[in-house]
Amino acid sequence: MTTLFISDLHLEADRPDIGKQFLQFLETDANEADDLYILGDLFEAWVGDDDPNTHYFTIKRALRKLTDSGIPVYFMHGNRDFMIGSGFANETGVKILKDPYKVTMYGRKTLLSHGDVLCIDDVQYQRVRKMVRDPDWQASMNAKPLKERLRIAQEARRQSLEQTINKSLEIMDVNEDEVKRVIQEHNVDVLLHGHTHRPDVHTVDLGNRKAKRIVLGDWYEQGSVVRWDSRGPKLEAMPR
Ligand code: MN
Repeated sequence: MTTLFISDLHLEADRPDIGKQFLQFLETDANEADDLYILGDLFEAWVGDDDPNTHYFTIKRALRKLTDSGIPVYFMHGNRDFMIGSGFANETGVKILKDPYKVTMYGRKTLLSHGDVLCIDDVQYQRVRKMVRDPDWQASMNAKPLKERLRIAQEARRQSLEQTINKSLEIMDVNEDEVKRVIQEHNVDVLLHGHTHRPDVHTVDLGNRKAKRIVLGDWYEQGSVVRWDSRGPKLEAMPR
């Protein structure tokens, strides 16, 4: 029996290859799993659950099929799809988790996160994050017409791309001290996250003990998954 973890697919209509692999993944790997955790940035952008984009419709229908078959699917917000709400949850049967979320996997205490909260060196980003995660901000956003939300999202993506070019890679990675602090605060053996698009398994030395930090990769060129069964977690690339 296996639990699957994925993140950072960044699904969008303009990248049908990613969507195709994800739909296939839901039909095969996920269909044979115990449960599936999606740790954020499933979508490249999300302006509200009322977006009638047909690409989203196909994805939602496939998720519904999986949850209807009795396989639990959990979703955590990323920095791209933080506007996913209860409408999406109701349509798909997916359960939305708070970030971070603690689970015990075969006796190992594990903290799940999208990972952007760990990137505290990017002060500018953390400021934006705080604003857009505010329920009042989200409510006022949702009150705007869909057309305007789409325009705002497009502008936000353009700005984010511009800022990313001017930031060093270190600033956009996790802060090592913050990683240690979070692992100790939640008293876990494993921290599993995405967001940085740097798939790897790190050993974190806490002085008195060692923990693991597993980073999921993005799906731009290939899929990335952590398969966790009784033998432990395994980070794998899925070529397409
Ligand atoms: Mn992200």
